[in-house]
Amino acid sequence: MAITLHDSLSRETRELQPSHPDGVYRFYNCGPTVYAPAHIGNFRTFVVNDVLRRLLELEFGKDKVHHVRNLTDVDDKTIRRAREEGRPLAAVTKQWTAKFHADCQALNCLPPHDEPTATGHIREQVDMIEVLMQKGNAYRAPDGSVYFKVSSFPGYGHLSRVHERELQHGSALAGKVHAADADEKEDVSDFALWKAHKADDGDNAWDSPWGRGRPGWHIECSAMSKKLLGATIDLHTGGVDLLFPHHENEIAQSECCNGVPFAKHWYHSEHLLVDGKKMSKSLGNLYTLDELVAKGFSPMAVRYTLLMGHPRKQLNFTLDSVHAAESALKTLRGFHASLPAGGATSHTFEPVVAALKDDLNSPAALGALFTIINRPGGEPDRESFDQAMFALGLDLTAAAPAAQTVPAAITALAEQRWAAKQAKDFAAADALRKDLTAAGWSMLDRKDGFSLEPVKKP
Ligand code: AMP
Ligand code: ZN
Repeated sequence: MAITLHDSLSRETRELQPSHPDGVYRFYNCGPTVYAPAHIGNFRTFVVNDVLRRLLELEFGKDKVHHVRNLTDVDDKTIRRAREEGRPLAAVTKQWTAKFHADCQALNCLPPHDEPTATGHIREQVDMIEVLMQKGNAYRAPDGSVYFKVSSFPGYGHLSRVHERELQHGSALAGKVHAADADEKEDVSDFALWKAHKADDGDNAWDSPWGRGRPGWHIECSAMSKKLLGATIDLHTGGVDLLFPHHENEIAQSECCNGVPFAKHWYHSEHLLVDGKKMSKSLGNLYTLDELVAKGFSPMAVRYTLLMGHPRKQLNFTLDSVHAAESALKTLRGFHASLPAGGATSHTFEPVVAALKDDLNSPAALGALFTIINRPGGEPDRESFDQAMFALGLDLTAAAPAAQTVPAAITALAEQRWAAKQAKDFAAADALRKDLTAAGWSMLDRKDGFSLEPVKKP
């Protein structure tokens, strides 16, 4: 059974096949901006991409997948953070790159084969911009910035259907509003390929044919994917917020520069939400992996939680769901320990991998896993179980959460509070919660009971 995956460009579900004669499948995943810890919303995207990477290995062979994921280590956000902290940009980005790697490892994400950085590829980006200038797809503004001329690329907007959207709203792209805006662009829809140096950028500037400056964000992915994977890649992925403008701009730059299609297949996974809103740094509604570990959860339960929803549907994150993931993992660990050593058998776990191959349907895969485990009689097949765990990336040997010892007096207070709440004596319940908080414990109410955890230190 082949891997089929929704393609954001054609809006169809299509089979994945390597298009190059060497049979190597070329896969580019837009990576993180390294100026703060990635939150578990970001990790939803990276875990989904990790499952994809694992499936590609199973399908085409370990040596027949080339996976590239970049690190954005220069942009407005990274520079601002370095300025605020009075540190060199490289010190900030190195620190957060190391943290990102540690979190990826804890979540059992396979490292990409290449992890290029924007600052390590200035030459390649400048080269690409030069070609775009020569071909008339880009122009230099009076301040020394270089912009991509969106009107020079008829294919602009096909991925995100931005023209349709903009036409409906009668705005910039459709109306070709020529703005004498502060950005010095000829058209408001044009985007920066090269940004002229500004005082706020400090030392973070490089020489170019247009003067000192730094690359715009979008050009790094076009330049680095071309260098490492070639002009046409098999699959390009990212979170749904990257569809426009980032990926639309990548297509425009790459196709105008190289004259061939950029990516054969586009895949965008949906967001992780909290209380119905996208988990994001700007909304401040985020959880980091460390915060969840401090609450007593294992990284593997966080991974499991991120796989509980279909990757193309939004997933609302709750602590209840991580509790559920933790108990599912406990069952899996017990099951794994009881598996017979080997031998072919009646209960194969192939439906788990089959569900993943069908448009990465991870909730169906987890459902199939437990259906097979709970099937009476027969003998489960260890080899296909191990393969299912590999595809899901669930490492059952990873540490289970350390058991927390809650003092008996705290448990007694919590039980009193639970009873007060059941009796709808909310004043008493609130007072008891205050006592618990003062004693350094917070109580999480669930439908069927409560759990206790140490109050998080700010
Ligand atoms: P960034 O570090 O902001 O460039 O984001 C890294 C990746 O995380 C991108 O692919 C984003 O689309 C993705 N992302 C950001 N927020 C979320 C979220 N709440 N849920 C899922 N993916 C996200
Ligand atoms: Zn990118």
